Amino acid sequence: FSWYTNKIRKHNEALQAYNQKLSNEINQRKNAEQQLNEYNKELKRSNKDLEQFAYIASHDLKEPLRMINAYTSMLKKKYSDLFDERAHEFMGYVVDGVGRMEQLINSLLDYSRVSIDGGVENLKLLNVRDIVEVVKGNLRFPITKNSATVNIENADNFPIVKANQVQMMQLLQNLISNALKFKGHRLPVINIGFSTKGDFHTFYVKDNGIGISKDNQEKIFDMLTRLHTKEEYEGTGIGLATVRKIVERHEGRIWVESVEGEGSTFFFTLPKVKSVVKPVMAAAN
Ligand code: ADP
Repeated sequence: FSWYTNKIRKHNEALQAYNQKLSNEINQRKNAEQQLNEYNKELKRSNKDLEQFAYIASHDLKEPLRMINAYTSMLKKKYSDLFDERAHEFMGYVVDGVGRMEQLINSLLDYSRVSIDGGVENLKLLNVRDIVEVVKGNLRFPITKNSATVNIENADNFPIVKANQVQMMQLLQNLISNALKFKGHRLPVINIGFSTKGDFHTFYVKDNGIGISKDNQEKIFDMLTRLHTKEEYEGTGIGLATVRKIVERHEGRIWVESVEGEGSTFFFTLPKVKSVVKPVMAAAN
């Protein structure tokens, strides 16, 4: 009997030690979780600060840039007779630099505005087809200039989503204008469509342009990533970073499938609306 109680006691001790170990581990994990939450909060705060900074900086940079613009135009207008050939060349560089800086500042502002204006209070029920039509209208000039065809597939059945209207336009305008810009030797053909599965709609913008190599298919969504020189294709490398931010703020995902030399298809998802009421029409431009 004593042998037996001894064995039970030992067994109990072992169990107690094990319990202690387990509760220590649980406490450790709780602490780590708490720390992780703190880090997360800190990260969110510093992200917000950074975005606020980008917004204010780019907003305030516009003013001095406007001044440079105004005075260079004045110099050109009033004194260009006094310029020799080199002065004209230098002036050209100034104008070019100012133009690019303006483009960068505007893109940066668009990027930071996504978080500043993109609160849930700005969400409306929208038919994505209406947005595509407005964007097509906005891009009338480059579409005609490039003799491009833009098809909306299954147009009559396009879904209604709950989204920020300005950002949806920004998103589609970025994707469609990229599809026009990165055209190959063929006439551009762009197909826009959607499919629905589970709780999400997947929209796509498909082009027959230059395509993107496998190595670069993720990178292009990072801020300031460009695969070409400004002489080959103009741009800022902020467009797709803005697009990704918009999609993610709408609880969606974005990715690209592409074959170099054949074309690219950009896909993005948006959550299905649970109960659909009447959509608000996209404002005509
Ligand atoms: P930007 O167009 O201002 O250069 P984006 O952020 O819109 O910047 O795009 C980043 C890069 O991704 C582009 O410079 C280009 O190399 C590549 N890219 C984007 N869209 C396409 C496309 N439809 N076809 C091929 N390459 C593309």
